[in-house]
Amino acid sequence: MYDLIVVGAGIAGLAFALTAVEQGQTVLVIEKNKAPQGASIRNFGMVLPLGMPTGNALNRAIKSKEKWLDYSKKANFWANPCGMMMAAHHDDEMTAMEEFNSHHSLPPYRTRLLNPDQAQVICPGVNPKGLVGGLLSQTEVQINPQQAIKQLTHYLAKQDEAELLFSTRVLQVHSGDAGCEVQTTQGTFNAKRIVCCPGHEFNDLIPCDEQTRPKTCKLQMMRTIKQKQNWAFGSMFSTGLSMLHYPAFDNVKSLAAVRERVTYDHPEFEKHGIHILAAQNQVGEITLGDSHHYGDDPDPFINQEVNFLITQYAKKVLQLPSWEIKEQWIGIYSKTQDDHVYWTQPQDHVFLVTGLGGTGMSTSFAIAEEWFLENQAG
Ligand SMILES: Cc1cc2nc3c(=O)[nH]c(=O)nc-3n(C[C@H](O)[C@H](O)[C@H](O)COP(=O)(O)OP(=O)(O)OC[C@H]3O[C@@H](n4cnc5c(N)ncnc54)[C@H](O)[C@@H]3O)c2cc1C
Repeated sequence: MYDLIVVGAGIAGLAFALTAVEQGQTVLVIEKNKAPQGASIRNFGMVLPLGMPTGNALNRAIKSKEKWLDYSKKANFWANPCGMMMAAHHDDEMTAMEEFNSHHSLPPYRTRLLNPDQAQVICPGVNPKGLVGGLLSQTEVQINPQQAIKQLTHYLAKQDEAELLFSTRVLQVHSGDAGCEVQTTQGTFNAKRIVCCPGHEFNDLIPCDEQTRPKTCKLQMMRTIKQKQNWAFGSMFSTGLSMLHYPAFDNVKSLAAVRERVTYDHPEFEKHGIHILAAQNQVGEITLGDSHHYGDDPDPFINQEVNFLITQYAKKVLQLPSWEIKEQWIGIYSKTQDDHVYWTQPQDHVFLVTGLGGTGMSTSFAIAEEWFLENQAG
């Protein structure tokens, strides 16, 4: 009998399993694919306090960032504390950044304003044409999600307390008098407690109330080939438009002008939830995105019109030596409406943790720690 069984080896499942091991608990991780292939390897790898509203979400991001830096050493993967720059290519965006910065230049956000020359030094990938300035946040860390998830999985597998079972689908979970039982395609396993971290596929395992359950979002992403040798993109990048997507900016009054302009000039961005995020990984490729389409059962297709809009917009705000695209993909996450995590306990000792939305890479370690604190083993 394990102390804990974790369903799903995305970042949420791994964070729970790693935290269990830190506490000396035995843990079995069960993953349906032969390696994690969900949202946790399809994202930008931005560990991003900027954008989180103050309170739980921001505190979790700051705590999780320290965990990422720590595990990057233990598990041997790349983590770059390069910060995030928001570029302003319109005066109204700069005004909104100034308003935000006037409240947040001190910790925990640690932002500062940049003039166009400074912005180009921090992020040589920014397009100087029409650049008004920028906002730099110095708390962000970049990882390469594919490398980091792989290395965390290897690291976990080496720990005496942990076992990982891949290519095994969990069919049912339930608790009984003699502990919890997990039925899988490879047999039945028992534990004192079960935490299910199945990402957007949660409803197959634990049906949730239709009104309150997290919503599903489909995103489109792309990655360029390696840029020429020794060309450095600089800090992670986002646009002024991204402020409309981050709850941290909800109270910035001057953002109303940005919203009005975009609604009028670019209804297509609103329609497809497009804003530009970009980051260079350790091998020199640039990951670019994204779009947001909500709705249950998202289709599996990459909409080329949406990718065209993303690329067209990206070319206005970025300058890259090469725009040759190496790969395109869709990512899917589930997003709860409040608190950035949906956790529920459908049965005794059985828990569901999902709904992390666009912030799961930034918050999962702290969420796992919180859960262990609130649910001390009996
Ligand atoms: C395009 C995109 C960009 C993003 N960018 C960022 C970013 O830069 N920064 C950030 O903080 N967040 C970002 N996010 C959000 C982040 O990636 C997610 O919040 C996070 O990865 C969710 O992790 P998870 O473990 O809950 O889900 P997943 O990574 O989807 O993992 C769930 C796992 O459970 C497994 N599973 C499901 N059902 C079963 C079953 N029945 N039996 C066994 N295994 C099962 C799946 O195979 C999967 O491996 C982004 C997301 C997307 C899609």
